[in-house]
Amino acid sequence: MTEGRLKHFGWGREGEGMTDAEAAAALARYRGLFDVEHFHQVTPPSLSEIELRPPSLSPPAALAACCSTGTYDRVAHTYGKSFSDYARGLLGRYDNAPDVVAYPRNETEAAAILDWAGGAQAALIPFGGGSSVVGGVEPRLDAAAHKAAITLDLRHMNRVLEIDRTSRAARIEAGVFGPALEDQLRPHALTLRHFPQSFEYSTLGGWIATRSGGHFATLYTHIDDLVESLRVVTPLGLLETRRLPGSGAGPSPDRLLIGSEGILGVITQAWMRLQDRPRFRAAGAVRFADFFAAARAVRAIAQAGLYPANCRILDPQEAFNTGAADGSAAILVLAFESGDHPLDTWFGRALECCADHGGSPESTGANNGHRDGAAGLWRSAFIRMPYAREHLVRRAIIADTFETAITWERFEGFHDTVKAATEAAIREVTGRPGQVTCRFTHVYPDGPAPYFTFHALGRHGDLLAQWRAIKSAASDALIGAGGTITHHHAVGRDHRPWYDREVPDLFAAALRAAKHALDPQGLLNPGVLLGP
Ligand SMILES: Cc1cc2nc3c(=O)[nH]c(=O)nc-3n(C[C@H](O)[C@H](O)[C@H](O)COP(=O)(O)OP(=O)(O)OC[C@H]3O[C@@H](n4cnc5c(N)ncnc54)[C@H](O)[C@@H]3O)c2cc1C
Repeated sequence: MTEGRLKHFGWGREGEGMTDAEAAAALARYRGLFDVEHFHQVTPPSLSEIELRPPSLSPPAALAACCSTGTYDRVAHTYGKSFSDYARGLLGRYDNAPDVVAYPRNETEAAAILDWAGGAQAALIPFGGGSSVVGGVEPRLDAAAHKAAITLDLRHMNRVLEIDRTSRAARIEAGVFGPALEDQLRPHALTLRHFPQSFEYSTLGGWIATRSGGHFATLYTHIDDLVESLRVVTPLGLLETRRLPGSGAGPSPDRLLIGSEGILGVITQAWMRLQDRPRFRAAGAVRFADFFAAARAVRAIAQAGLYPANCRILDPQEAFNTGAADGSAAILVLAFESGDHPLDTWFGRALECCADHGGSPESTGANNGHRDGAAGLWRSAFIRMPYAREHLVRRAIIADTFETAITWERFEGFHDTVKAATEAAIREVTGRPGQVTCRFTHVYPDGPAPYFTFHALGRHGDLLAQWRAIKSAASDALIGAGGTITHHHAVGRDHRPWYDREVPDLFAAALRAAKHALDPQGLLNPGVLLGP
């Protein structure tokens, strides 16, 4: 991670971003897609041009040293990184800025900030890296219940505190960013190996709070399986779970807290299960003439118990957009890794599964095959992708993604329904065709997690409404066809209407009761997961 402040508008740190050549290539592709010569460009306001209402709360003397009411801090904590966040940032709309941003340096300070929030009737928003794409960190208050908003940013709680080499686990503070976490584990030859695409600018606590999905396409897909125990500060005190490799003692307290998206407490530490760093790899890409044939090959691999680390299909258009192929073939990016044993046998067997469904390998599984050919081209594009959005939104290009999961027997019809509904919404809302592509991010023996990307040319002034209409149509289609509203991007505030349709009413009532038991004043993250 380079030095410098995180951008208040955009991905990464100030001074980072796409190169001119990368931006030019992306825009040339969009000019071709929408058949236009130029894009009408709007520039977001600079920090000094943004007007905020005065804060309605000031920190008590004992906490003043770790709190800020400065413009940068309040602006940079108003939004996450969703399309709607960028669209509002572009207009300089920061109505929901928190009144105070608190940066606790330890658990005692975090607990004191929670106490202060309770006394002041202020909503408290836990904040990790702020990479939420579902409105998870935006203080949207219930005016009747909250007088102000305090955002609690855990970035200074960023240390690996203890390593248990024997059990291969570590006690880690929740505010650590991905690269700093791996830097601290590397000298011990250990790794968490949880790499969401947002890895550089998201935190361990955020991953646990949102049940994030990492780069492992099979087996250890979600962070859930890597959590051994948790420490959580709630408005009623500290909650700590027992370190165990497994337990059958009733419903799991960890599983209640993992994915609670900051509504039950602030995760301050976790014991995490670690792995040896991989020494053996077998990786490469496989071409298929047909996306569904590739899906059938992936099902065979997933059901063979081979557990590849990477097993991502890109449909032909997605492969073209990322430079991995020419648009005539679907690409399967396939990789195995181990800290213990060579993987040629596993890779060879996976290639047999592919051949059964018409797949032809680009390579035979070299140790560094994940960096070569189509696999390498896709990998480079994947790492740089987050920097594109700030360029696109300025030009009214609506580019967004959504992900879901579905069982294999429904996959093909489900895919066609969701794609068609999203394409139709783009045409209706923008008056011209757009593009919807699909890849798999994770696969299970009983079904894939399809990840859709859509591209539409919007209109400045209407961008937010246009995006919302397309997103709603896609979400309706997902839920209507039996999928989940999210496989790993969380629920936040933006997915709530569809989450409400997905979960059984009695479960929602039980979750509400759990929230009331831990947070009786309703301070924590109002509007996330549960309605008022
Ligand atoms: C470019 C990009 C790529 C992404 N790729 C992936 C991906 O590959 N896989 C994936 O799963 N997600 C991905 N995401 C979504 C996002 O990065 C994840 O949801 C991530 O886990 C959020 O971590 P964070 O530290 O940024 O949390 P934040 O965005 O700060 O917070 C997310 C939610 O968790 C709560 N929270 C944060 N920290 C704590 C804590 N310590 N205690 C309690 N609650 C807390 C917040 O209140 C909020 O509701 C991506 C996002 C972007 C912008």
